[in-house]
Amino acid sequence: MRDLTLRPSPISSTVDFLAEGVQHGFLRLPYSHDDSAWGSVMIPVTVVKNGKGPTALLTGGNHGDEYEGPIALFDLARTLKAEDVTGRVIIVPAMNYPAFLAGTRTSPIDKGNMNRSFPGAPDGTVTQKIADYFQRTLLPLADIVLDFHSGGKTLDFLPFCAAHILPDKAQEAKAFDLVSAFGAPWSMKMLEIDAVGMYDTAAEEMGKIFVTTELGGGGTATAKSARIAKTGVSNVLRAAGILKGAVESARTTWLDMPDENCFSFAEDAGLIEPLFDLGNQVKKGEVVARIYPIGRTGVRPLDVEAKMDGILAARHFPGLVKAGDCVSVLAVET
Ligand SMILES: [Zn+2]
Repeated sequence: MRDLTLRPSPISSTVDFLAEGVQHGFLRLPYSHDDSAWGSVMIPVTVVKNGKGPTALLTGGNHGDEYEGPIALFDLARTLKAEDVTGRVIIVPAMNYPAFLAGTRTSPIDKGNMNRSFPGAPDGTVTQKIADYFQRTLLPLADIVLDFHSGGKTLDFLPFCAAHILPDKAQEAKAFDLVSAFGAPWSMKMLEIDAVGMYDTAAEEMGKIFVTTELGGGGTATAKSARIAKTGVSNVLRAAGILKGAVESARTTWLDMPDENCFSFAEDAGLIEPLFDLGNQVKKGEVVARIYPIGRTGVRPLDVEAKMDGILAARHFPGLVKAGDCVSVLAVET
C-alpha cells in the first residue's frame, strides 16, 4: 500500500484538469540550482475537455532520446479541438522533460530513468518528483494510458504497439483491443526484462488500460515512424470513444515474446557486425551478430547466437557494443 501520509507533490499545474475547453500550460516543478536560484522545471501539458466521457492520458519522452511520441503529441496538442472530444485528453509530450531537453535517456539532473522511478517520491530527486505527480495526480484521472517509447540512441525496433499479459484478463483484453486499434505494422505481447518501477506497472496496478509502443530507434524518428505514431494516437482515441470518427484500420502482425530466450546479451565489448536486419526470420543456433575484439587484429570474433526461432524485433543500434548490452530481441508470430 502507498503511504497516505506522504506530503503533497511540489508540482503545481497551470491548467485546470476539470475545466472545459482547450488549455495549454505547464506542470511546474520548483528546482533551485546554480543557474536559477528560485527556478523551475516547466513541463508542457495540454488538457482538452468536453463534457462527460473517458479520460486518456498520453505521454511521450518518458525517455528523453525517443522522438515519435513527442512528435505525435506536440502535433496533437496543437491541433486537437474541444468539439472533437467526448471526455478528456491530457497530453504530456515530454514526461521526463530535463532528459528530453538534453536528448538523453535519463535525466541530466539526477540520472533518473523515469521508467524505473515509479511510484516516485514527493521529497525525492527531480525524476522521482515527476513520477510521484503522475502516480498520485495524473494516473488517477485516467481511464486509458498511452505511453510512447522507441529504441532511443542504443536500440532499434520494428515499429510496434504493445501491451502486457496481465492477471486481470478483462483489463488485458481491453489493452490488446487498443493495441489492435493503434494499427502499427506490428503488435506485441510484451515481456519486460525488469518491470519493477515502471510507469506501465504503476498504471496497470491501478487498473488502467495501458498501452505502449516501440516505434523505431537510434535516437531519431523517420517519416514512416512519425506517421505511425500520429495515426496510432488518433486511432486509440477513436477506439476509446473520445475522438469522433472511425478507426483507420491497418493490417498488423501480432508478435509474442514467449520467454527470456528472446533476449541475447553481449558477453564482451567490441565492434558489432549484424548478420540479420529487423524483420528477418532467425533460426535457433544461428549467429545473429558477431562481436570483433578491437584491441588487435587476428582475433576470432565472438558469435552471438539466437536461443530460439523468431523474427528479429529489436537490435543494438550503435556500431560498438559493451559487455551486457542487449544485442537482439526475437519475437514469434502468433
Ligand atoms: Zn523508452
